[in-house]
Parts: sequence; structure tokens; C-alpha cells
Amino acid sequence: MRLALLGPPGAGKGTQAARICEAFGLLHLSSGDLLRAEKLKNTAMGKKIRDYIDNGRFVPDELMIGIMRSKLVSLVRQGFVLDGFPRTISQAKALTEMLAALERPLTQVINLAVDPAVLTRRFEGRRVCPVCLSVYHVDLMPPQTDGICDIDGAALVIRPDDMPAVVRTRIETYHQTISPLLAYYREAGLLLDVDASGGVDQVWMAIEARLARQGVKG
Ligand code: AMP
Repeated sequence: MRLALLGPPGAGKGTQAARICEAFGLLHLSSGDLLRAEKLKNTAMGKKIRDYIDNGRFVPDELMIGIMRSKLVSLVRQGFVLDGFPRTISQAKALTEMLAALERPLTQVINLAVDPAVLTRRFEGRRVCPVCLSVYHVDLMPPQTDGICDIDGAALVIRPDDMPAVVRTRIETYHQTISPLLAYYREAGLLLDVDASGGVDQVWMAIEARLARQGVKG
């Protein structure tokens, strides 16, 4: 299986990607995590990336495609879930070309659709670990101890790009760019629509059911 997850910021792409990977033995590749790891390094490239991410803007296609290209080669054998990539039509076309060259095309693209009011609520409670980058939610996915990462004990923080003004930019950018991407994958017969407005378990069951209808079972 080689999947890509589409959906607005806050759709739960990262959380659901992790579940899919666990159920089907796939590797998880998050473009946002790759960029944040690069940003933490504080290199020249990291500083450039910081500027885009912290203002809620997409990093340029060329840079993003280059980063993904270097990672994808090592994932194709086992199968993967892409989370956050592609986000533009030129990224989607580059991905099709990269995977065609490896003779391992995408098998499904899951579109996580979410009610806008639900998105706002999800962002208000989202917290991340600044060390291992794990994501929590104060109500929906709380850590065992309030405000503390389960994995490394670091104090959880709000991601700079989860601040309300930046979230608005991110959601607007998403809506401006998503239509051609959905059309591209619908036309290719790869798109599976899933309602992602419910809780984590409910969305996971909807994804499982949708994949099972395609004949895919964990
Ligand atoms: P995410 O964690 O997927 O919400 O991504 C966080 C931020 O990383 C986004 O708001 C963008 O600034 C940047 N980013 C992640 N994936 C991409 C992509 N495929 N293309 C451009 N920018 C991206």
C-alpha cells in the first residue's frame, strides 16, 4: 500500500496516518515533521523554512519536492502513508513522476473532510512536545500528566503556527489549493472521501471501512 492523506490543518492527518501505519505495517512520512526537524537544526535552510512555517505559508514546491524525493526512495519497498504531501498540484504531479520512476504508484488517496467549526475547536486544544514533536489535545488526546509529554517528560507547548491568526492563514491556503488536487486524484480513480469530523476512533473506523470497501484489510 502506498497512501497519501489529504485534509485541512487539524483534520487529524498525523494521528490517522500513525494508526494506518500500525494496522498495515507501513512507514509514516509527514512533510510537516520533516520541515520542523530541519527548522530545529537552525541551518540556512532551516531558517528559511522557519519563516514559511511560522507564518502559515507553504514552503516553495521545489524545496518541498526535493526533501520528499530524498526520503521516498527508502520507503517504497515497505509501503507508506504520506501525511501533508502533496499539497499543491505541482507536488502531486512530481509525486506521480517520482513513484512511476520507482514503479510503485500511489494505491489510494484519502481525503479527510472536516466541518470548519470542529477544526477551530481542535486547534484551540492542540499541544506539542518541543523535543520529540508528539502531538496531544487537552480534551481529545490528553497526555497522562497535564502539560507533560508521555514520551520524554518535556513541558508541552503551543506550536507557533497553531496561533489563531496563523491557523486562519493555513486554512485559507488549504482551501485555495485543494480543489485541483482533489480533481486530479478523483480523475485518477484514487480518491476515497472520509468524514473526519468525529473523534479519533470514529474517524479511524471510517477509514478502515472505506479501505475495506476497496478490498484492503489489515
Ligand atoms: P503540517 O504539520 O502538515 O500542518 O505542516 C506544517 C507546515 O509545514 C505547513 O503549514 C506548511 O508551512 C509546511 N508544509 C508542510 N507540508 C507542506 C507541503 N507539502 N508543501 C508546502 N509546505 C508544507
